[in-house]
Amino acid sequence: MKPSIPEPQLEKTTCLLCGSMHSTLYQEGADYFMRLPGTFYLVRCASCRLLYQNPRPPLDGIDHYYPDHYGSYSSTHVGLYAHPGLAGWLIRRAQHHRCRLLDQAVVAAPNQTRRLLDVGCASGLFLEAMQHYSGWQVEGVELNQQAAQITSKRLGIPVFAGPLEAARFPDATFDAITLWDVLEHLHDPMTSLRELRRILKPGGALFVRVPNAASYVAKGCGRYWSGYDLPRHMTAFTPRTLSHVLQQTGFDRLVCRYASGSYIAALHSLRFALDNSTFNAERAALIHRLLLHPFVRATVCLPTRLADQVFGGSNMEVLVLAHET
Ligand SMILES: [Zn+2]
Repeated sequence: MKPSIPEPQLEKTTCLLCGSMHSTLYQEGADYFMRLPGTFYLVRCASCRLLYQNPRPPLDGIDHYYPDHYGSYSSTHVGLYAHPGLAGWLIRRAQHHRCRLLDQAVVAAPNQTRRLLDVGCASGLFLEAMQHYSGWQVEGVELNQQAAQITSKRLGIPVFAGPLEAARFPDATFDAITLWDVLEHLHDPMTSLRELRRILKPGGALFVRVPNAASYVAKGCGRYWSGYDLPRHMTAFTPRTLSHVLQQTGFDRLVCRYASGSYIAALHSLRFALDNSTFNAERAALIHRLLLHPFVRATVCLPTRLADQVFGGSNMEVLVLAHET
């Protein structure tokens, strides 16, 4: 168990994309997910329109907002095939969908081994799924020491415990790099992406998934949209600002963009809104459980997917290639 970390004093920052000091308030909210005290602010850059948290928790105090029961680490002891029933099948299907995209995007010569790095690999479900594809050598980077050790031991692969830059990988090491729900957490995404560009081979693939602040769920749910996840998310990307960030760091050949996750995001956002209203707490929990039932989810799967394609899903997954030179 972590020692109790004091609540940090928030720090002011300039725009993470263009460095401008000028911005306007976009959204004010609280920590609806972990329910830690504080009021947090998302602003929009007056110059490039990036949405970013300002003021924000400093890097050396951010641990306060990642308690031991934070979602990404809570399944550390559970493997990809340990999830039962339809929910487990949905998880495996989503992971293998990502694996297939990556496997097809990064073409290898006969008998060539392709190297994959998953940044922020947490409990390693994606890396575990990739181990079923031949011709890949996989490894991870994970800030959480305990999650890194457990994932490394469980999968028998290298997992560097610490920040990406501290791993000091040689230039042009990897054929593919993935960041699932990670980029929005970074204090300096531009520096991290330039580091990823350095360690990615020319022509290599970067696969990024982030919440989509321009989605219909984000607009409909306002401050309660789960994709804001204040104060852990430093940035709230839209398709436009994500493209700018990637282009300016050496990734400009967009291969594909997928939308996903609107139903689950809407459910969590609804729960946050009900928890912060006078609505009966037991009824709110019951509604949430019913709507999370795998059969309800399977029923709404197709209409949600269609809406995501037309109006923009709550998450966007982008596959981009690095410059050849
Ligand atoms: Zn800006």
